[in-house]
Amino acid sequence: MTNVGEIVARFEQFAPQNWAEDGDPVGLQLGDLKQTVHKMMVTLDVRPEVVDEAIKNNVDFIFAHHPVIFRPIKKFDLADPQNKMYASLIKHNITVYTAHTNLDNAPNGMNDWLADLLELSKREPLLKEHEESLLKLAVFVPKKAAAKLRNALTTAGAGQIGDYLDCSYTLSGIGRFTPQKDSHPTIGKKLEPTEVAEEKIEVVFPQKLRSKILKTLRIVHPYEEPAFDLFEIQGNGIKYGMGRVGNLEHEMSVTEFAKYCQAKFKIAHLRIVTDDLEKRVKKIAILGGSGGQFYREALKKEVDVYVTGDISYHTGHDIIANGLVAVDPGHHIEQICKPYLQELFSKWNAENSWKIEVLQSKLITDPFIFI
Ligand SMILES: [Zn+2]
Repeated sequence: MTNVGEIVARFEQFAPQNWAEDGDPVGLQLGDLKQTVHKMMVTLDVRPEVVDEAIKNNVDFIFAHHPVIFRPIKKFDLADPQNKMYASLIKHNITVYTAHTNLDNAPNGMNDWLADLLELSKREPLLKEHEESLLKLAVFVPKKAAAKLRNALTTAGAGQIGDYLDCSYTLSGIGRFTPQKDSHPTIGKKLEPTEVAEEKIEVVFPQKLRSKILKTLRIVHPYEEPAFDLFEIQGNGIKYGMGRVGNLEHEMSVTEFAKYCQAKFKIAHLRIVTDDLEKRVKKIAILGGSGGQFYREALKKEVDVYVTGDISYHTGHDIIANGLVAVDPGHHIEQICKPYLQELFSKWNAENSWKIEVLQSKLITDPFIFI
C-alpha cells in the first residue's frame, strides 16, 4: 500500500519538477498527495473519456503527460465539459499528477524514447543543455556511528558519480566540544570539554536531493547538533535538455525517411515540409509535442530533417526558405510515453513493494482523423 506522494517522490528522482520549462504547470494538478493508491493509470491526455475509463477500472491515481488544467477556471459551471470532468475526478477520489516538460527534458525521458524509436545514435539535446549542480556534504560523526550514517546517506541517493554508486570518502580525526547547561549530549557531560574519535564522511548528491539528504542526516546522526559542511561543486552534474539530435544508421531520401517515421510511429499519415523529396538525409532532430517554433535550433545544429508536431502554415514556409526539411507526424506520437511510464512505475512498484496495479490508458486521444 502506498500513496500518491510516495509514488511521485520516486518519479521526481527521475524527472524533478524543477527541470520543467518556466510556467509549465507540472506536478499535482487535482486531488491529494496523501491519497492512497491501489491502481494507477498512465495516460498522454486527461480527457472526459479517459476519466470514464479510470472510473470503470477503479483507478485512484492518474499520471498524465499533458497538464489537465491548462486554462484558468473562472466559473465552475458544470455545463462546461472540462469542469464536469474535474467534478467527476473529485467525486470519484481520483488524483491527477502531470509531468510535462520535465519529462521531455529528462535523460531517458520522452525525447529519448522518441529518439530510441528512430534509432538515432550520437545523441545530444536540441535546445540549450542545462546542468543540475551537485552538492558536497562533509559530515563529522563518531566512529561508532559512521557506517550507519554512510549507508543511510547512500541509500537516500548520495554518492552517485557517473555509473558508480555508493561513492564516499572518509578521514579520521578528533572532534571537540563542550556541552552547555541546556544541551542534551549523546557523548560527554554538561560543561566538560569532550574529545571524540570521529570520522569525516564526504559524499556528493544532486541539488534535487538536498532536503532528503539533510533530513536523513538529522535522523541518523547521533548528535543533538551534527556538524557538517555543505557546498556547491562545479562539473559532473546531470545534464538535461529538450529535444534530441542524432544520426540515422543509414542515409536515405526524404520520402524514405517519412515512410520510416510512419512505420516506427505506427501512423497512417504525416506531413512533409520540403521542396525536395529526393534530398538525402542522415542527421535528424526530434522534439515531441509542438516544436515548430524551435526550427532555428535545428538549423543551428545543421540537421537534415527536423521531426516535430503541430507545424503551422507560415512556419512551414520559413522552414523551406531556410533550406531545412521537416516531418510532422502529429503531436499524438507522444503516446509512446504510456508503455515506457507503465514499465518505469511497475519497476518502482516491485522495488518498493507498493503492491499497486499500473495500467495504461487504452484510448486514442488524438483529436484529428485523416480521411
Ligand atoms: Zn505534448
